[in-house]
Amino acid sequence: MEEKALECPVCKSNKAEIAGENVKLSGKFENKEFLTTDLTVLRCVKCGFYMFFDKQAKFTTKEDS
Ligand SMILES: [Zn+2]
Repeated sequence: MEEKALECPVCKSNKAEIAGENVKLSGKFENKEFLTTDLTVLRCVKCGFYMFFDKQAKFTTKEDS
C-alpha cells in the first residue's frame, strides 16, 4: 500500500488536523441514495480545506515543533 505525505490540494500545506473519524457521508444521485464507507476527515490548518480518506488510505502528517 502506498504511503504518501499529506498535501493539501489547495494550498500545498502539509499540516492538517483530524476533523472527524468514522464519518459516513450520505447523498443522492439520480434519485438513488448512497452512503459512503467510514471516512477520516482532515482539515487543512492553513486554508480550511476538508480532505476525505477511506480506511485504505494511509497518510503521514508532519508536525513542526
Ligand atoms: Zn490548504
